[in-house]
Amino acid sequence: MLPQHTRHPREFEANRFVYPVLSRRSQGLSIGVNLNPDKVCNFDCIYCQVDRRSESETRFVGLDLLLDELEGMLRWASSGEIYQHPQFASVPEALRRVNDIAFSGDGEPTTYRNFDEIMEQAAAVKRRLGLDPIKMVLITNATMFHRPVVERGLATLDVNQGEIWAKLDAGTEAYFRLIDRTAIPFQRVLDNLLRAARERPLVIQSLFMQVHGVGPTTAEIDAYVARLQSIRNEGGQLSRVQVYSVARQPAESFVSALPVNELKSIASRIYQETGIEAFVY
Ligand code: SF4
Repeated sequence: MLPQHTRHPREFEANRFVYPVLSRRSQGLSIGVNLNPDKVCNFDCIYCQVDRRSESETRFVGLDLLLDELEGMLRWASSGEIYQHPQFASVPEALRRVNDIAFSGDGEPTTYRNFDEIMEQAAAVKRRLGLDPIKMVLITNATMFHRPVVERGLATLDVNQGEIWAKLDAGTEAYFRLIDRTAIPFQRVLDNLLRAARERPLVIQSLFMQVHGVGPTTAEIDAYVARLQSIRNEGGQLSRVQVYSVARQPAESFVSALPVNELKSIASRIYQETGIEAFVY
């Protein structure tokens, strides 16, 4: 069994929207904000780790409550009091820092209709508490970047230590359909990644897996690496790529983790062929 603080609970105590997570990847605490308590997503990834079998108690985002929870959590975590809680008491000294506020949750956060407002208000909470250096991380599938409300939210992130972690799991339309299971065209995702990457550097998150025991083909990885290269060639900035696999129970039982050596070989291809730094998690 994992030590308690490495579990990733979506809810913490009585909170509806905001929860703390120890993130070894970011070497500190990440304050998660769930903008999709209704568990609705515009993708239906075969590897999704959101438990949709259980009904959520909260269906709508109450902005005032969410901001209250965020402020309370930031105060609690940045003061160090959080480490008196049994769930965080064993966090090593070196990781006792708040790294970021992460907008993700149980669906696609950019589908939230007041996305610009929530980014602005969350940044204001951070400023009010004198916590400017804390990052704001948006974990997204990039499907809504073309909407003005989302563009405005991304611009707010740009001036508030924002980072955009955008999903790209495929190189071909067919594999995209197999893995991410959505009616949204692959081209829209690619266009949106380029549009956003022309404005600021993006972090790409790519999850590779085995489907019925078989990993992505060499041709699929060729196409995927070519997509990254093409974004770069057309003026998009990609700061790094996070390559990872399933770690918890996926939506479909025919999905399993891709061995680490294969993840490493994808990461090294990315670096060698595009010059973009790629890390395996
Ligand atoms: S985009 Fe994220 S939340 Fe939506 S189905 Fe895929 S993994 Fe799940």
